[in-house]
Amino acid sequence: MLKELAQIASAVQVSSTMAIDALAKQMKADGVDVIGFGAGEPDFNTPAHIKAAADRAIADNLTRYTPASGTLALKEAVCQRMREDCGVAYVPSQVVVSTGAKHCVYLALRALVNPGDEVILPAPYWVSYLELIKMVGGRPVVVSAGEKDGFKITAEQLAAAITPRTKALILNNPGNPTGMVYHREELEAIARVCVEHDLYMISDEVYYGLMYDGEPFVSAAALGNGVEDRVILVNGVSKSYAMTGWRIGYLLSSERVAKVMSNYVSHSTGSPCAISQAAAVAALSGPQDCVEEMRKAFEQRRNYIVERMNRMDGVSCIRPEGAFYVMMNMEQLIGKTIHGEPIHTSDQFCAAFLRHGLVATVPGSGFGAPNFVRWSYSASMENIKKGMDRLEAFLKS
Ligand code: GLU
Repeated sequence: MLKELAQIASAVQVSSTMAIDALAKQMKADGVDVIGFGAGEPDFNTPAHIKAAADRAIADNLTRYTPASGTLALKEAVCQRMREDCGVAYVPSQVVVSTGAKHCVYLALRALVNPGDEVILPAPYWVSYLELIKMVGGRPVVVSAGEKDGFKITAEQLAAAITPRTKALILNNPGNPTGMVYHREELEAIARVCVEHDLYMISDEVYYGLMYDGEPFVSAAALGNGVEDRVILVNGVSKSYAMTGWRIGYLLSSERVAKVMSNYVSHSTGSPCAISQAAAVAALSGPQDCVEEMRKAFEQRRNYIVERMNRMDGVSCIRPEGAFYVMMNMEQLIGKTIHGEPIHTSDQFCAAFLRHGLVATVPGSGFGAPNFVRWSYSASMENIKKGMDRLEAFLKS
């Protein structure tokens, strides 16, 4: 008889976004004409000048270990880009580079959370936050915001959820899965509560480059009034530069926190991929027009999808302000039958839609939003049109 596996690891649930994406990709590979709106992964190719930098890195034999928390060149490029784009002042000793923003969130939690500490998580939340908190032995305290609140929690809600065990808040701005954005006053009020109650704020801003309608982005680290000492900023190249597979994310924090995370990665990952780091330097320091081109394309797609979805009977959505997700409200479909399948949950809806409509979407259950379905519009306009046609036909059936 084999001994039990570790309790914390065994309790981890598979990521629903990754699972749906893998399923859709497999169906496509099997010749099924499925359209994927599952994972938040830009359909654009990585821009040519970034790929050329990676080619050069290989040719120049930059193929060995780098410092555990990233090369100085990349840390400098991160500081410069964050200063220009977000108006925040960091130096390289405050930067930790790791293998994607997801691992960066894990590192931040690792640095902050003792077993039993509470971490406040606004819902709808990105599926991995919940599991990551548990993976470090923390207790997620979910604070829910409804569609009518723009899927955003208030400072009052945050304050009401705080206990003597609360260590941190995770805020994702712009948000995945909602695409909603915390604006300056909302953010200031939340930051004030964090300072008053001595909380850390893990601010995942990986979608900051994807803001729509000309709205400015406000970073939590740029608010002043003492919150900058408590903010652990998470960012990365995946979404803005179409570099998901390169796996480069970074953290910016106080030197005290950065040192702890840096020591941790020196044992857990060794270092991020050297070639990807060279490519990320090119992304952050090179021409930025590619970011704007992709942003504009995402904005057009958002406009189209929101307009079409709100014209259909049975579903609706509010207008996302950033990122590339839209939360489809499917409350009106509960209790109905589509293609002979009863629909009581978003999981059932997504399963039936994939089977009969050949469209992959992610059920809201994994995001703490049971009556919603997340569409990632990081797909081509042609596929978005087809996807909307298929939704319309599916709902009519
Ligand atoms: N962050 C993206 C998403 O939510 C990529 C997949 C994942 O890491 O969950 O779809």
